[in-house]
Amino acid sequence: MPKYPFRVGRARTGLGLFATEPIKKRAFIVEYKGPRMSNEKADKLEARGSKYMYQINSKWTIDGSSRKNIARYANHSCRPNAESDTVRGRVIIRAIKNIKPGDEIVYDYGDDYFKYVITPSRCKCDKCRGKRAAAQREARLKAKRRATRAKNAARKARAARKKRR
Ligand SMILES: [Zn+2]
Repeated sequence: MPKYPFRVGRARTGLGLFATEPIKKRAFIVEYKGPRMSNEKADKLEARGSKYMYQINSKWTIDGSSRKNIARYANHSCRPNAESDTVRGRVIIRAIKNIKPGDEIVYDYGDDYFKYVITPSRCKCDKCRGKRAAAQREARLKAKRRATRAKNAARKARAARKKRR
């Protein structure tokens, strides 16, 4: 097995790739490998539940489902530190930031994948979790403000009744 600057480890979404040494921005990380097939055939396999299909152009798709394709363990993130790119028919993952040892290597799977497969409400990346946590905090604050307003209104009403007596 070739020496990689990362290892496969436990991530939030199952397994993931984690840097074991510093990876410089723009550096090649790993190739996304697998047999090449027509998009038509890939669509059929995908409809039957095949994951890890990577479409490289209007004609061809790489089926990355083999466990030998270690790149398949790289997870999606909406705040990625890597990207996938097609270079002369091969799919590679490269760093778009300096990556520190221990960091999970993640790239953006693309709009369609995010919208239809992951779905925005279930994305477990840091950015989406942060957004959801902020929305929950905001909702809690709103509920608290509403409760405070109701309490104040009740207190005022009681005071007004006392005055009248
Ligand atoms: Zn996300």
